[in-house]
Amino acid sequence: MAKLEILEIPDPRLRTVAKPVEAFDDELQRLIEDMTETMYSADGIGLAATQVNVHKRLLILDVSEAQDTPRVYINPEILESEGTETCEEGCLSVPGIYAEVSRAERIRISAQNADGGFFEEDLDGMHAVCLQHEMDHLQGKLFVDYLSPLKQRMVTKKLEKQRKVAVQKTSKALL
Ligand code: ZN
Repeated sequence: MAKLEILEIPDPRLRTVAKPVEAFDDELQRLIEDMTETMYSADGIGLAATQVNVHKRLLILDVSEAQDTPRVYINPEILESEGTETCEEGCLSVPGIYAEVSRAERIRISAQNADGGFFEEDLDGMHAVCLQHEMDHLQGKLFVDYLSPLKQRMVTKKLEKQRKVAVQKTSKALL
């Protein structure tokens, strides 16, 4: 297994629309393993292939308390959705930023597993929020896109500031 680099905003590759997975081969199994390791080591509860610069419709998540139940969703589609729920979200590609986003409260989805088998599932709570967040990534969409223009400007400023601090830290370490 290998840890993969996670793309961060404003990397334009995060805006790529992913293509359906067609081959359920060894390469796909390796990608799932690597994404799982990458998600856990970054303390994430979800990761879309887009975030590791692989533009295929594949995402993983683990919303279990113990972080021991990784789930894979390939070519996911939302069949039905109802209700609205507002939740504070964060994202491994938008470090240090948290904001409230409204999404469907309950969804019914269809997807394929790692072997290509089709399944359907009813999701709610954090599981539904996380799946919708990750599915957005596959469309090149980020959670900050839902914020008002004013809030988006605040996010951009905060990210620029964080990045400057990070650069300073790096240059100090190099001395
Ligand atoms: Zn995300």
